[in-house]
Amino acid sequence: MDCIKTADAKLLLEIQKTDFQRSLYEKELSSVPEKIKTEENAFEKEKAAWQVFADKVKSLQLKQRQAELKAAETEQTIEKYQFQLHSLKDNAAYQTMLMQIENAKKTKDEAETAALMLLDDIESAQAEEKEAKRNLCACEQKMKDALLKLAERKKQLEAFIAIEQQKKNSLAAKITDKKIFEQYETVSRKRGRIIFAVKDDGSKPFCPNCNMSLTANTAGLMRKADTFAVCPECFAWLCREIV
Ligand SMILES: [Zn+2]
Repeated sequence: MDCIKTADAKLLLEIQKTDFQRSLYEKELSSVPEKIKTEENAFEKEKAAWQVFADKVKSLQLKQRQAELKAAETEQTIEKYQFQLHSLKDNAAYQTMLMQIENAKKTKDEAETAALMLLDDIESAQAEEKEAKRNLCACEQKMKDALLKLAERKKQLEAFIAIEQQKKNSLAAKITDKKIFEQYETVSRKRGRIIFAVKDDGSKPFCPNCNMSLTANTAGLMRKADTFAVCPECFAWLCREIV
């Protein structure tokens, strides 16, 4: 098959343009879910980073409360020992109790010091957490903006696709050669673009798809208005470029 004779060559070329345009829109549309996922993942990453700092603050606050509690409990123990001390008659027991009181005081001091130091740690952890929270809020806003834009673009693309489909339908309605149209549909579904307009400016014409030089016979067929020359190399449908 060196050529396809059809009165609908120009219409088919127009149909292919709408098919191509629609395929670009469809490709972009199909990339939307991945883009949404990317935005959501960036936010989740930022959220996890913030969570680490938030957990650190909580854990330090817990330790600090425990240290304060220990200091308070030890204080009660000291008071209890001091009350008991007055009722002790035996000197050895008295000395032992004094020692216990000293030890308890030491424990209480240590707990109080630890509680104070933990307050400093909490303060710097809270500063880190605040910074992470700021980043998280900025990231959330960025994500929301991006998702909104993507939703708008999705709607737009769906509308564009519908327009191209309508264009195609009205062009297809004008086709008289239904068989060639079906052939175009089948081949283009498999291969994508199949019709190629060849530059015919006096220099030796070649197939724009596979770059092969066209024979005089193929070039002659390609110049006919109601004919596609078929490239013997890649089977592209060739027509003359309308300048
Ligand atoms: Zn070719």
